[in-house]
Amino acid sequence: MSLKRSWVQSANSAETFFPLNNLPYGVFSVAGGDPRCGVAIGDMILDVSAMERNGLIALSDGPCFDLPFWNKLMRLGPKVWQDFRNQLTAMLSEGTDNEATLSPYLVPQENARLHMPLRVAEYTDFYASKHHATNVGTMFRGAGNALPPNWLHIPIGYNGRASSVVVSGTDVVRPNGQTKEPDADTPSFGPSRRLDIELEMGAIIGGSNALGQPISVAEADAMIFGYVLLNDWSARDIQAWEYQPLGPFQAKVFATSISPWIVTTAALEPIRTSPPPRETCLLPYLLEPKPMLFEIELTVTMAPPGKAATVISETNYDQMYYSAAQLLAHHASSGCAMNVGDLLGSGTISGPGKSQRGSLLELTWGGQEPLTLDTGEIRTFIEDGDTLTLKGVAKGDGFCIGFGSCSGTVTPAPKFPRN
Ligand code: MN
Repeated sequence: MSLKRSWVQSANSAETFFPLNNLPYGVFSVAGGDPRCGVAIGDMILDVSAMERNGLIALSDGPCFDLPFWNKLMRLGPKVWQDFRNQLTAMLSEGTDNEATLSPYLVPQENARLHMPLRVAEYTDFYASKHHATNVGTMFRGAGNALPPNWLHIPIGYNGRASSVVVSGTDVVRPNGQTKEPDADTPSFGPSRRLDIELEMGAIIGGSNALGQPISVAEADAMIFGYVLLNDWSARDIQAWEYQPLGPFQAKVFATSISPWIVTTAALEPIRTSPPPRETCLLPYLLEPKPMLFEIELTVTMAPPGKAATVISETNYDQMYYSAAQLLAHHASSGCAMNVGDLLGSGTISGPGKSQRGSLLELTWGGQEPLTLDTGEIRTFIEDGDTLTLKGVAKGDGFCIGFGSCSGTVTPAPKFPRN
């Protein structure tokens, strides 16, 4: 597939993140206006809420875009998703005579503020990169016992909090928490001193299953509405003290950032790819009937306050051991009910190389090997005022499918009230 041309001229370059091939879904507002649903095209946003109100789009009996979230479209299912995408593609294609009708509904992206694109129902985070699990395991248990015995058989996950999910650009308040130094007898309470990122992709679920009714990997793949970049901010010192025996809790519930544009699975179809070779055969309920990963180039930058950003990691989503469809099928394998608007984090995405690690924990090897940024600052973990940004782009034949960016600036921990 090559670049699809549009009468929106800025959508026709090989470098734009938002050509007609992409059409990602977001929620935006302009000064003085309410948030509404929009679709990115070139450097513009098409206001589909206003188009629907004026009768230019009709997808179901009732309005689909009257609320500032995409959940209503998700609920209508894959046939309507495709119908909507076909309508948009037809209306925006070069050579059609829609420019005069639709130009009033185009808003420059530079004038818009972006909001949460969906109402997150529930949030679950996984641990699906073998390179990440191996790095972390090597640090804590030694190279001989790096991967837990279950890891090659089961996608490891934990239930997070939907309330913690925020859109890119939202400040991240450093958490207070309980920590214990290795040589201390008792724990103490205060601001986390090992605040970290986790470079992840988030899969957005557009379907549901009844409680007690599992779903296959193929059904799971068809239920994924789209993907976002996701930063699972993590307090390593809080995590180290609290995580046994039930897993992360306060270390990961203070903020999870997502990028503002939902890139649909439909847009990613041309760049499907298979996971790396399996080391051991998966159980039948986890086998994928077709390629279910995507080649998405991922970058992390770190910028001290007022300073330029330094690239600290470059990797690719195609390095994951388990796809989002496998995570979803596993999640429902017990009969757990999944819902429209559920968000599944992939787990930290690390590649095999040192510069491909998706967390500071790995990049600095537990804080033992500090990073020197291009601006001269030295970092082991995140300091107040630092801005961390994830970027993602998939490359097609002469076009890009961009995710935009997922950014957050860390602000100081609140003074904790004493009784
Ligand atoms: Mn995570």
